Amino acid sequence: TQQQTWTQVDDYLNALLIPSDSLLEQALRTNVEAGLPAHDVTPNQGKLLQLLLQIQGATRVLEIGTLGGYSTIWMARALPEHGRIVTLEADPRHAEMAQANLTRAGLMHKVDLRVGPALTTLPDVQEEYREPFDFIFIDADKPSNPDYLRWALRLARPGSLIIGDNIVRDGEVIHADSTDNRVKGVQSFLKLIADNPRLEATALQTVGSKGYDGFVIARVLESPTAK
Ligand code: SAM
Repeated sequence: TQQQTWTQVDDYLNALLIPSDSLLEQALRTNVEAGLPAHDVTPNQGKLLQLLLQIQGATRVLEIGTLGGYSTIWMARALPEHGRIVTLEADPRHAEMAQANLTRAGLMHKVDLRVGPALTTLPDVQEEYREPFDFIFIDADKPSNPDYLRWALRLARPGSLIIGDNIVRDGEVIHADSTDNRVKGVQSFLKLIADNPRLEATALQTVGSKGYDGFVIARVLESPTAK
């Protein structure tokens, strides 16, 4: 089937390009054993996040949706020693696993993990972090994506990158009459990005071991454009 091919190709590419890494693999294993949903990014997506951070020269990163910290490990590793990733997680069990995985990976000194619904922890982050974030990865509850975009814009600077994951949802995103709140959240999110004169963006469809989905990547402009 198609899904088998996508998985086999991901396995092939990852075996070729992504060096095996016992800490990352152990993080995934611990998450599965603890019964966490397998909603982590894939290894090749983790590497993409890492490359984007490096291209961006990011030192301050915000992640909304930590899960077991798998994507956090990828990103924290791409930060310089003085860099910091603030990562927000609503579920205390997920946060506990993330804390354990990040500690084992020796990365906690670069990580500020905040437990609670992101919309309640974001005001504290704004208060405590006076400097804007260079890179914002939105990967939590999709119905809140429009709110997360508004927060991201408040916490960003011209040149910041904002990435939103899972925006294709098996193609469901094109159904204007969808009653799925996740799809509706993603549609409003994309419309807000499209209409915002402070942003330029593109979005890509992806296939792989986690199915058919996609991501949007937006950049905050120096000066707003007419749209
Ligand atoms: N970024 C992670 C990775 O790739 O390893 C995956 C994140 S997973 C797709 C989404 C996470 O968002 C879940 O752990 C879920 O508990 C969390 N979440 C859901 N609602 C949230 C909220 N309101 N605030 C913060 N986190 C939330």
